[in-house]
Amino acid sequence: MSVANEPSFRESVDMMFNRAVALMDLPPGLEEKIRVCNATYTVRFGVRLRGKIHTFTGYRSVHSEHMEPVKGGIRFAKAVNQDEVEALAALMTYKCALVEAPFGGSKGGLCIDPREYDEHELEQITRRFAYELAKRDLIHPSQNVPAPDMGTGEREMAWIADQYARMNTTDINAKACVTGKPINAGGIQGRTEATGRGVQYALQEFFRDERDMAAAGLTGNLEGKRVIVQGLGNVGYHAAKFLSEEDGSIVTGIIERDGALFNPAGLDVEAVRNWIVKHGGITGFPDATHTADGAKVLEEDCDILVPAALEGVINLSNADRIKAPLIIEAANGPVTAGADEILRNKGCVIIPDMYANAGGVTVSYFEWVKNLSHIRFGRMQRRQEESRHQLVVDQLESLSEAMGKTWAPAPDFKDKYLRGAGELELVRSGLDDTMRAAYQTMREVWHGRDDVTDLRTAAYIVAIDKVATSYRAKGL
Ligand code: NAD
Repeated sequence: MSVANEPSFRESVDMMFNRAVALMDLPPGLEEKIRVCNATYTVRFGVRLRGKIHTFTGYRSVHSEHMEPVKGGIRFAKAVNQDEVEALAALMTYKCALVEAPFGGSKGGLCIDPREYDEHELEQITRRFAYELAKRDLIHPSQNVPAPDMGTGEREMAWIADQYARMNTTDINAKACVTGKPINAGGIQGRTEATGRGVQYALQEFFRDERDMAAAGLTGNLEGKRVIVQGLGNVGYHAAKFLSEEDGSIVTGIIERDGALFNPAGLDVEAVRNWIVKHGGITGFPDATHTADGAKVLEEDCDILVPAALEGVINLSNADRIKAPLIIEAANGPVTAGADEILRNKGCVIIPDMYANAGGVTVSYFEWVKNLSHIRFGRMQRRQEESRHQLVVDQLESLSEAMGKTWAPAPDFKDKYLRGAGELELVRSGLDDTMRAAYQTMREVWHGRDDVTDLRTAAYIVAIDKVATSYRAKGL
């Protein structure tokens, strides 16, 4: 989405970078080295479909190789272009640094509307794109590891992994060439939900702190907070589902391609998702007001706005009408640099993309480690942990018996306490820990420095500092 007088997505990311770097003391030239995108590969390839050859254009951009492999999703969308993948690759560098995932930043994209092709055609196109990238080590377990993004998911990642394995038949680590795979193709529990889950953990951490809530003029916790979500895809759906089902938030608005649904009493996220799967859009969903101009609903009154679709949706044309006191950027780049300034001046708190949607790359990191170690998390410890817990329960029971009392724990205590952690519990625990720790590093800079007044600048400062340290350690 672009608006007149608005910089491009990549320029917008660079402006935010420059704003932060002006407050840092980096050695001469290092700022430029970190900011620029190292390389972008453009490929055009043909696939024979429906009796003729169709030519597709794809990109893989590598922003920074201060750590390898580099990491970043592959997007399938009509609007994909070089500027966009470079902006997204830069964000990946900063995101990985912020959450301490040991990767450089990369991103890929294919100019295609996946809805125009059937499954078999999409498989042919995806495999051919993967072939072109793998041939140049732009898909490789130790060089460049893609993941899902807009328009792609588990299915595409499984095709990519298989394509790489066919081309590298003796590579024992072949599965680690891509993350976000289905479980039966080397994936990890909790990856599909990870980005939305991370958005939930980020908000939980924000609402643990009175001072942070006060900055947005909010109090209490997530219970009863009115939430508007844009994009009920992988990220938006999981975020909205967990916030409403587990934290008691009320999802009052859902914005999709074909308009928006609004209901002040709350929408049933699962029911809306099922409606979209069945009807291809939100139109016709009962129990809600439908607005044809969906973007207008971004401007509705709410407590938390969750843009989870595409970049540039909050821009110079609508920023001054946004009422939400708190925005969490579940999508990459939903707020342009110009809109960011307007919102900051209005006192709106923005939890920035590089942190807010880092749950995906965090769990991708766990998946990559699982693939390289060739063992599922928890497989060695689970039963041992359970028998140690059983010892404690047995001791408590015999102690109460010796005291002539009956031990009556809460009904689900034994169930919860005795059960050793499986892969999903461990993944969620690792993700929660990562989101909390990264939030605290941003927060320290946000509140600890007089010249930093927003979380985005704080996030950039933390991330750039980590990348700079890494370059310095390499002797650059
Ligand atoms: P997705 O394709 O699963 O979902 C995108 C959703 O947005 C779809 O439901 C689509 O219909 C909707 N949408 C598209 N255009 C829209 C419009 N103009 N208005 C309203 N809705 C619209 O994609 P996703 O994986 O959920 O990614 C969404 C965002 O999150 C992207 O910015 C992506 O880069 C970012 N992200 C994704 C991941 C991940 O793990 N998938 C990780 C980090 C960041």
